[in-house]
Amino acid sequence: MSQTYGVVIVGGGLGGLTAALSLRHKGFRVTVLEQAPHLGEVGAGIQTAPNASRILIGLGLRPQMAAIHTEPQDQVRRRWKDGRVLAMTALGERCKREYNAPYWHYHRADLHRVLHDACLDRLGPGPVVQFHTASKVVDVDRADSARPVAVTATGERYDADVIIGADGIRSQVRDALGLPDTLEFSGEMAYRALIPGDKIAADPATRWLVDRFQSTIWYGPDRHLVHYLIRGGQYLNVVAIVPCSAEIAEKWSGPASADELVEAFPGWDDRVGAMLAKSEGDATVWAMYYRRRDPVWTDGHVALLGDACHAMLPYQAQGASQAMEDAAVLAEELGAVPADGIREALTRYVSRRAKHAGIVQDASLRNKDFYHLPDGPEQRARDEKLKKFDGESEVSYDWLWSGTPLHDPDLEAFSYQFGR
Ligand SMILES: Cc1cc2nc3c(=O)[nH]c(=O)nc-3n(C[C@H](O)[C@H](O)[C@H](O)COP(=O)(O)OP(=O)(O)OC[C@H]3O[C@@H](n4cnc5c(N)ncnc54)[C@H](O)[C@@H]3O)c2cc1C
Repeated sequence: MSQTYGVVIVGGGLGGLTAALSLRHKGFRVTVLEQAPHLGEVGAGIQTAPNASRILIGLGLRPQMAAIHTEPQDQVRRRWKDGRVLAMTALGERCKREYNAPYWHYHRADLHRVLHDACLDRLGPGPVVQFHTASKVVDVDRADSARPVAVTATGERYDADVIIGADGIRSQVRDALGLPDTLEFSGEMAYRALIPGDKIAADPATRWLVDRFQSTIWYGPDRHLVHYLIRGGQYLNVVAIVPCSAEIAEKWSGPASADELVEAFPGWDDRVGAMLAKSEGDATVWAMYYRRRDPVWTDGHVALLGDACHAMLPYQAQGASQAMEDAAVLAEELGAVPADGIREALTRYVSRRAKHAGIVQDASLRNKDFYHLPDGPEQRARDEKLKKFDGESEVSYDWLWSGTPLHDPDLEAFSYQFGR
């Protein structure tokens, strides 16, 4: 069904852009309102497991993604004190073979640009997406429930048949719907750094990191460390989770020095210090917030997507990936109905997605304890479990990487091995 009704998406992050492109493909006229003066993403890496890569490739982005991805061959789990490998999970070809889609790493800005370009591509299917930057939505006027209006801080009004709040963890659309306050502070903060690959390769203490593309997690008491190469080795992306300082708890985010990063991992394997010491002054630190599980994502012709409804701790690297799953299901449901079926379509979208995303939210939260056990019997039992690990907490990779079942015949027929 080719659609003639209009959708306004509030927020031009990875979730909002994937939704815009998915809806465009179904023939919708889509307008994206973004508060920032320019569209873009933070300077950091991102991973898409097969559940998300499958959706992006299904949107016809395979050549563009092939140009920007780095493909890890394994997921490696290491012990904090001596770097001992606790477990290895094969990624690479195995993901494509078993889950019909790759596990890929990227620079966030590259992935965001690919989505943005596809939204604007004049030769793509469906109407070109309209973007308005410097457009902070402060309210949603629902006086006409079938024709809600997004109202910006400067008084512009954008009416539409459907409004999607993809405006992140502190969603204003969510507030406009009057939904409960589900925001929680985890008590932790994340350092993020992009370390030049040539500095890593030049030091014998860290050269091993560029031997093979891997996704690595180090487990230690109260903290953990994740790193992987992006842009084919141009940068080592580092995420370091530690207990939150009072200053960052209050400020939410700030700059971080290399010394601070090194000092955050006292007593860890020397190679960790050698790695972190190479971050170049553009590292940042972010307080870790998440949302409690929430089954209500829609009211009438307005619905939420991504962090606005299921912000989760990044301890499974699934937040954006779940937003991409939202986008695919949302486009399927809206794409199947005329304007008088919108309400029911949004209800079906939520019933197909809320439980699934909620399970991932809860599993990510459980990893906060699972990853950070102090040395002792529980930690030893965990390390034993990791040896035959096929997923995070109680969530299996089979379930997570298969993703929400889709009805879209294009995606059902999709085969990674043989192209589309
Ligand atoms: C350290 C860390 C590592 C992570 N790693 C991964 C990973 O490897 N894989 C993965 O899948 N996920 C990962 N995540 C999670 C992922 O980053 C988020 O879940 C994802 O970016 C959320 O996308 P979103 O589009 O829903 O929200 P956002 O990215 O927050 O985008 C929201 C957009 O809306 C705009 N906006 C906000 N308010 C308004 C308003 N009122 N009006 C207009 N515009 C507005 C914002 O400016 C922004 O552009 C990680 C998160 C962290 C913190």
